[in-house]
Amino acid sequence: MRGLEAFDEVRRLIVVAAHPDDLETLCGGTVALLGQRGVKVYSVNCTLGDIGARDASISRPALAVTRLAETEEAARILGVEQSFTLGHPDGELVASLDLRAQIARLYRHTGADSVWTFDPFWAGQIHPDHRAAGQAALDAYMPSKMPLYRPEQLAEPGACLACLERVFFFSTTRDPDIFVDVGQVYETKLASCQAHRSQFPEGEESLEWMKELDRGRGQATGALYAEAFVEIQVW
Ligand SMILES: [Zn+2]
Repeated sequence: MRGLEAFDEVRRLIVVAAHPDDLETLCGGTVALLGQRGVKVYSVNCTLGDIGARDASISRPALAVTRLAETEEAARILGVEQSFTLGHPDGELVASLDLRAQIARLYRHTGADSVWTFDPFWAGQIHPDHRAAGQAALDAYMPSKMPLYRPEQLAEPGACLACLERVFFFSTTRDPDIFVDVGQVYETKLASCQAHRSQFPEGEESLEWMKELDRGRGQATGALYAEAFVEIQVW
């Protein structure tokens, strides 16, 4: 079992999520710790998060605007370098060839050496957008490193062939082998989550489920709160 040292070689990280609050709730503590080390972190939200409301009194475009602003605020709190939104409708994400190309393009523009995403193969992952985001992020890995794949992307200013070397899944119960003690940055994690006021209107009270999850993972390592990951072998 490893801890934060599993990410010792990470210099530029891209996190591919489905919705605006995924990064913060699932791995916000580890992102904050890596930010303190000077790691450049880029976040990608595949959807607009525009069905994330408890009643239908708000329009989807208005909710999308709100969630984008909340994402930017959370990114500032966690020290995220840049956030990207791919603009897909919430609740209907598909791991299409277009989504794969959108993600590959960001691998090529950010120069990330590592990617974190959802485990698309975990049978307990009931959110279809999470499975689709994980699948597309994984599927973009190989072609993004090949010059004949979507070569027009490589002609864009600032783009270069992807240099990813490592892939990690978060949100998995399939034998995580990395447990990061996030106790010392837990207030920062909570603050970044609470920036998503549309999702957690009661503040910390709305986040008891997350604290319980993180406490459970902490028990594996003797930490108060931990986040879990699994690394997969790639070449
Ligand atoms: Zn989500």
